[in-house]
Amino acid sequence: MFIEPRKYNIHTGWIEVICGSMFSGKTEELLRRLKRAKFAHQRVEIFKPQIDTRYHQTLIVSHDDNQIQSNPVGVAENILLYSNEVDVIGIDEAQFFDNQLPEVCNILASKGIRVIVAGLDMDFQGQPFGPMPALMANAEFITKVHAICVCCGNPAGYSYRLADSDKTILLGEKQEYEPRCRTCFNQGMALKKNI
Ligand code: ZN
Repeated sequence: MFIEPRKYNIHTGWIEVICGSMFSGKTEELLRRLKRAKFAHQRVEIFKPQIDTRYHQTLIVSHDDNQIQSNPVGVAENILLYSNEVDVIGIDEAQFFDNQLPEVCNILASKGIRVIVAGLDMDFQGQPFGPMPALMANAEFITKVHAICVCCGNPAGYSYRLADSDKTILLGEKQEYEPRCRTCFNQGMALKKNI
């Protein structure tokens, strides 16, 4: 369980990254941290990329229907426009943002803001996803959460795509992806190659 560091200096900000595969509980962990900050009367703003409208335009909704109000933004730079008078910033589905996001998070953290970023670390081919590698390099704290492999029950770090498409961004739900461990992911990818 992630425990927040003590704020020895009130001007100190930092970046936290929550990463993992689909169905690993990333958004739930983001919401847990944000709700606790809100309860402590900290000023919280939440952002998500405009592209992610699976469930609702302005609510961040996790798979278990936990939800919180968010601001959809088109490009990462716009987050800076809405970040005055804020103590904590949450960013969900970070993998879909442009490559300016790491620099935007650096600027915010250097201003003294606690920045919490959640996103998929790998795409459906097992490759690092969008701005996530740079965010993880810049972050003070990284939490990698795991799903459970639907094939064998081991911890799962990969999002295996069931649908037959090679677009990197395919927003999906249970019918299109399943979490798999390394072995079962590799077996699935090998089978697809042979078809
Ligand atoms: Zn497995």
